[in-house]
Amino acid sequence: LWSRDSVCNIILLGAEDVGKTALVVRFFTKKYLPEYSHSTWCCYERNVIVNDRVLLVRVTDTSGKESFSSLKSKGLLEGAEGYVIVYSITDKRSFVKARELVKLIKEDFGEGEQTPVALIGNKEDLVHYRVVCSKEGQRIALLYPRCSFHECSAAREAQNVESAFQDFLCQVLNSKVQR
Ligand code: GDP
Repeated sequence: LWSRDSVCNIILLGAEDVGKTALVVRFFTKKYLPEYSHSTWCCYERNVIVNDRVLLVRVTDTSGKESFSSLKSKGLLEGAEGYVIVYSITDKRSFVKARELVKLIKEDFGEGEQTPVALIGNKEDLVHYRVVCSKEGQRIALLYPRCSFHECSAAREAQNVESAFQDFLCQVLNSKVQR
């Protein structure tokens, strides 16, 4: 039986096609699967060891098609203990959207200011197509408490996905202890 303390509810947000699903699949299975179903709303769960503790991590993957206000009005953003907000370093519009999402969560959303947010710039392997530099992501994370920033690639093994999620889950655990 899982106690409340050993379950982590995470919501994944960001524009379409930035690699949200690829990232969670990579973190949970260590694999990069170029094809999977693209349903609008999908939940993944897996046991993960964080700080020597076993956590049941539940990730709700949003498609990126629905607006923040629509997700919010349907109550779909409630109860999250952390948000992972993803953009692609090859797509400026996705970065602008991620920046808005961080702002909305941190400034306008319930306990958002205290809830850990991980901002992730994905597709780091596509260096030649980079249009968003690391500093731009870093700068956003520095504006808010409990907001981390990582660049990574779901497509390449060992390119930061594990450490980005581990860091973030540590933060989520710490913030749960403090509540
Ligand atoms: P989502 O809509 O945000 O969930 O994005 P997906 O996970 O469906 O990925 C969108 C497309 O980007 C797919 O074709 C993936 O194979 C590709 N993709 C995802 N992550 C990466 C990455 O790190 N590098 C590269 N080169 N492609 C990626």
